Amino acid sequence: MSHAHAEIPLSRPDITQMEEDLVLQALRSGRLSIGPMVEQFEHELAAKVGTRHAVAVNSGTSGLHLIMRALNIGPGDEVITTPFSFVASSNAILFVGATPVFVDICPKTLNMDPAQVEKKIGPRTKAILAVETFGNPAYMDQYAQIAAKYEIPLIEDSCEALGAMHKGRNAGTFGRVGVFGFYPNKQITTGEGGMIVTDDARVAELCRSMRNQGRPLGHAMGGGTASGSWLKHERLGYNYRMSEINAALGLAQIRRLDEILRKRTEVAEFYIERLAGNKHLTLPTIDAASVMSWFIFVVRLSTSYTAVERDRIIKGLRNHEVGAGDYFPCIHLQPFYREQFGFEPGMFPIAESVSHRTIAIPFYNSLTRRETDLVAQTLDVMLSRENLMR
Ligand SMILES: *Cc1c(COP(=O)(O)O)cnc(C)c1O
Repeated sequence: MSHAHAEIPLSRPDITQMEEDLVLQALRSGRLSIGPMVEQFEHELAAKVGTRHAVAVNSGTSGLHLIMRALNIGPGDEVITTPFSFVASSNAILFVGATPVFVDICPKTLNMDPAQVEKKIGPRTKAILAVETFGNPAYMDQYAQIAAKYEIPLIEDSCEALGAMHKGRNAGTFGRVGVFGFYPNKQITTGEGGMIVTDDARVAELCRSMRNQGRPLGHAMGGGTASGSWLKHERLGYNYRMSEINAALGLAQIRRLDEILRKRTEVAEFYIERLAGNKHLTLPTIDAASVMSWFIFVVRLSTSYTAVERDRIIKGLRNHEVGAGDYFPCIHLQPFYREQFGFEPGMFPIAESVSHRTIAIPFYNSLTRRETDLVAQTLDVMLSRENLMR
């Protein structure tokens, strides 16, 4: 859906003097790739999340691809995952020729229904790929238990969940390996970028090698072009390296993470306070055992609304200078998934029903209470207008 410039955008990165200073330092260092900024960013993110290893890459999607390769997932293998996500989580399964096996979601948390995850496990299941939808870490411990029971790895796509916690444990640490994404609408940004996190030294080493053209592990961490093995390639690799400039930005952002998460929680609370009584809307629910890391703020229209009505409300918001989006259309109903796998509407009814009624409204750190009130008021007007037409 294209739209005019919204006065209150859907998202906006939070860049301060610290980001500017570190990026400038990288630019002036004479070293623009494979250098100390990447190493420091990896080190500080690993410390923050609590994993032994962190491997920076040039996008969350690249990270997911490397994870699939490092876990030796390929043709003939099945990976259990959610149809209600950004398309990249499932595309990574296709990159290596494996087959996504979708599981419907729980209507409260919007994450995969754990009972159904277990039911879908079969002889070809090679991994579970769980997503913390919109930053909600519910059930991650249950997926981990199921994965352990069947002796398969849990891959945690935490691209929407940096800073989330469930039962005292950080998002990114439930699986054999996790990944964060740093596109500009995420909790922290590097422009483009991602980070693989794991306690598994072998997985970390394979990812380091493959992000750097499959170079030998000893030279994959940096080391520069002087090395005699710079042109030695041990395995099929990619150029998925993060540049020093991107890493400098990420380093400032990870140092500000607590402040950033606090601001986001405050904005979410403004919305919840203002919208809680609205009978047309379902707001995000957070179970008592979880700490949400707010990625975007998504309200859901009540079941009496159709997708057409929802789309009209989104259009109305945009026409009134309020950013809005339909996060997410179901992955199984994307044209190339339908074509390749024969998916049809009705196969994952909860995910489909939810995806027809979601509206993401503006959400970023610097939103003021006045602006959230204005967004809520505009939403009220659009809802009334829609109801007059019924
Ligand atoms: C953002 C995101 C990714 C990765 O996106 P990139 O743009 O490649 O960094 C992967 N999975 C999910 C669920 C995401 O939201």
